[in-house]
Amino acid sequence: MKLQMESAELFVPDGTPLEEALARTTHMAVAAHQDDIEIMAYDGILACFQVDDKWFTGVVVTNGSGSPRDDLYKDYTDEAMRVVRRKEQKKAAVVGEYTVQALLDYPSAAIKTPTDKRVVEDLVALLRAARPEVVYVHNLADKHDTHVGVTLRTIEALRRLTDDEKPARVYGCEVWRDLDWLVDTDKVAFDTTPHENLQSALLGVFDSQIAGGKRYDLATLARRRAHATYHASHGTDVVTGQNFAMDLTPLIQDSSLDPNTYVQEFVSRFSRDVAERIAKFG
Ligand SMILES: [Zn+2]
Repeated sequence: MKLQMESAELFVPDGTPLEEALARTTHMAVAAHQDDIEIMAYDGILACFQVDDKWFTGVVVTNGSGSPRDDLYKDYTDEAMRVVRRKEQKKAAVVGEYTVQALLDYPSAAIKTPTDKRVVEDLVALLRAARPEVVYVHNLADKHDTHVGVTLRTIEALRRLTDDEKPARVYGCEVWRDLDWLVDTDKVAFDTTPHENLQSALLGVFDSQIAGGKRYDLATLARRRAHATYHASHGTDVVTGQNFAMDLTPLIQDSSLDPNTYVQEFVSRFSRDVAERIAKFG
């Protein structure tokens, strides 16, 4: 497989030949940065972990060179950060037993330039080779520009596939903005109860981000725990971890659907829910 960036890498943790490793994919996550997959797509990692016929492929789009740095890493150049973040992502792929970890190695600016189609080409090639049943990507209401850019480019790539090449489900997941504001009927709730130790390990390998004082490892597990408790106000907790997602599947089934109009409908339903409750008791 030929990717657009010379420096891109396709890493197969168990050494299976690349084509075979990609072809056995059932679940795929496309994320902007090193560590986003482990924050947002644990549902897919878990679905495949130690399961013979299910395999997870992770795709990280950017090169990590602009990452914040502190502590051990405070004097690292952009190039040294790029190397360390790539190394960390490969560690996560080993811990999570991914079939393939793709590192597309784009500068963030390339993702935020709609006319730059290189990443779309890469994603089409990967999606065709992997044919995942489920795809996880950032949600359209995320507050990080690069995350939203990655989602728009991924939707574009998915729309280029023929109907039988398309995944059955596409989920927009939470990183920079929780999705607990979605009305309950719009929430896709993933149960992240099992293997809390594995979740800690997957998040813990990203030392260069955590060492600066951003405890993504603790915060991500805490968010999952909080969602599990606060999702429903009645009844006792039956799960101890949850992640929420927004269903993006309609956007790939109907290419005429505008992503902005689509996400605004979620916002409108939220707005109506607030207004109706106040009206009931006002
Ligand atoms: Zn990110």
